[in-house]
Amino acid sequence: MTTKPFQAESKRLLEMMINSIYSQKEIFIRELISNASDAIDKMYYRALTDDTLTFNKDDYYIKLRTDQENRELVITDTGIGMTEEELEANLGIIAKSGSLAFKKENEIKDGHDIIGQFGVGFYSAFMAADYVTVYTKSADSSQAYKWESNGADGYTIEPAEKETVGTEVIIKLRENTEDENYDEYLDEHKLKSIVKKYSDYIRYPIKMDVSVHQPKADNEEETEEVQEEQIVNSMIPIWRKNKNELTDADYEAFYQEKHYGFDKPLTHIHLSVDGAVRYQAILFLPENTPFDYYTKDYEKGLELYSNGVLIMEKCGDLLPDYFGFVKGIVDSEDLSLNISREMLQHDRQLKLIAKNIKNKIKTQLKTLLKEDREKYETFFQSFGRQLKFGIQMDFGANKDDLKDLLLFHSSKEKKLVTLAEYVERMPEDQKYIYYATGESYNRIEKLPQTEMVLDKGYEILYFTEDIDEFAIKTLMSYEDKEFKSVAAGDLGIESEEEKEKEESEEKENEELFTEIKNLLSGKVKDVRASKRLKTHPVCLSADGEVSIEMEKILQQMPD
Ligand code: ADP
Ligand code: MG
Repeated sequence: MTTKPFQAESKRLLEMMINSIYSQKEIFIRELISNASDAIDKMYYRALTDDTLTFNKDDYYIKLRTDQENRELVITDTGIGMTEEELEANLGIIAKSGSLAFKKENEIKDGHDIIGQFGVGFYSAFMAADYVTVYTKSADSSQAYKWESNGADGYTIEPAEKETVGTEVIIKLRENTEDENYDEYLDEHKLKSIVKKYSDYIRYPIKMDVSVHQPKADNEEETEEVQEEQIVNSMIPIWRKNKNELTDADYEAFYQEKHYGFDKPLTHIHLSVDGAVRYQAILFLPENTPFDYYTKDYEKGLELYSNGVLIMEKCGDLLPDYFGFVKGIVDSEDLSLNISREMLQHDRQLKLIAKNIKNKIKTQLKTLLKEDREKYETFFQSFGRQLKFGIQMDFGANKDDLKDLLLFHSSKEKKLVTLAEYVERMPEDQKYIYYATGESYNRIEKLPQTEMVLDKGYEILYFTEDIDEFAIKTLMSYEDKEFKSVAAGDLGIESEEEKEKEESEEKENEELFTEIKNLLSGKVKDVRASKRLKTHPVCLSADGEVSIEMEKILQQMPD
């Protein structure tokens, strides 16, 4: 029995493929530029192994040109080109990747700069093209060839004239339709922005003729429009640069350029990780809370690049919700992309990166807290609320990550304190971490319940936000010290003696208390003698786990 190869209706297959795998048409530009970059990379690798060749960086570039009249977009490169056989194989067989083969043949282990691997990117051009023409001359051949196809009826290859080694891809753009505007690929601004968006960090110059206004030669008063060749990509991504060569201003400029916020970054983290999964990242802590931060509209996420090519604008999986305020980019060569290169195939690497990033952010925050308290407090003003929510989320699964990052107002020194600082200076006989809840610092200070605790010389944390008490209820304790509301029934302050005295006083006045209780019937649960009052005659206290403030909030919540 012979096994027969599958026949395929290639025209339909091509159509289906290109229209189903890419979410946006403009991606074809990214794909063609990536191919051009790969072709130049191959020249570079060739020069590494061939002594007769030298790789002079200036000779290698990618150029985008438009022909308005003929509605053509032309992408030229000075890369390795293709022989007739290579044309046949690489552009004639769908899903055949010459680049993947190149990587394997040359055993380029760190050949991670070569982008191609699926053998389909080129055909994405048919999303925008009526037909595509390729002129190419290989470094291994003196004869150039022309490849042409309308994407439907197959392709033709014939010898052609081309002087220099490299490839020229001509996209004959489709006519506009009601839904689709193909003219925009002829617009220099639009093109430039697409290149910037997806291919800014391609390592070779991407050139374009851009119109600029300049003073006329004969009359300086007037300006004229002239074409000027510009390099539109930044080439070396800032995250690949050495930290030591970068200044705060560089990072700030990047933050602004990326529109991460209107503010300045409070601090940044620049990572170059070479572990189980390799990646580079630049992360920013913003200074201010984005206006929509605590709303449903806010979308967390980092930009995700694979080898300098943009894959996802906002990859939410890279950040836990409680660090959702972090902005920045991640670039990894170890991602397994899906065929459209817009998504990931496995999230194993992503999970590893996310975990790693989470820890780095945590460490950075701890360092900031230790070394630049003022800055940390600015940060905490903006995002402390988020950290407290973070503790409460997922049934406290993250509490160990976050508990040391919390700050609370305190009765001591009227400044924000950490739980560690609180516990550190607790007198030996103090059993609990005390807290009091209220609308503001001043109001809490006037609560009758605080007096007794303060009198003992104990510090009290002042909770002014709804979330404060919920967060510590989730934490339950810190370094084995339980939290206790100053409004709780038993404050754990009295000595045995005092307790006994209290009990006997209670007995003596039993009738009085019963009388008061009857008078207040239904409004209070019990009436007792209190030891915690000094200047105030009476106070309300909560019996059990929920403080009066918390009860109020719970009552406001919809069922
Ligand atoms: P991939 O880039 O994933 O390999 P493509 O469909 O984009 O798939 O390209 C198919 C193959 O065509 C590439 O692997 C490469 O061998 C060849 N090719 C495409 N464009 C060029 C170019 N500009 N110069 C040289 N070879 C090219
Ligand atoms: Mg490709």
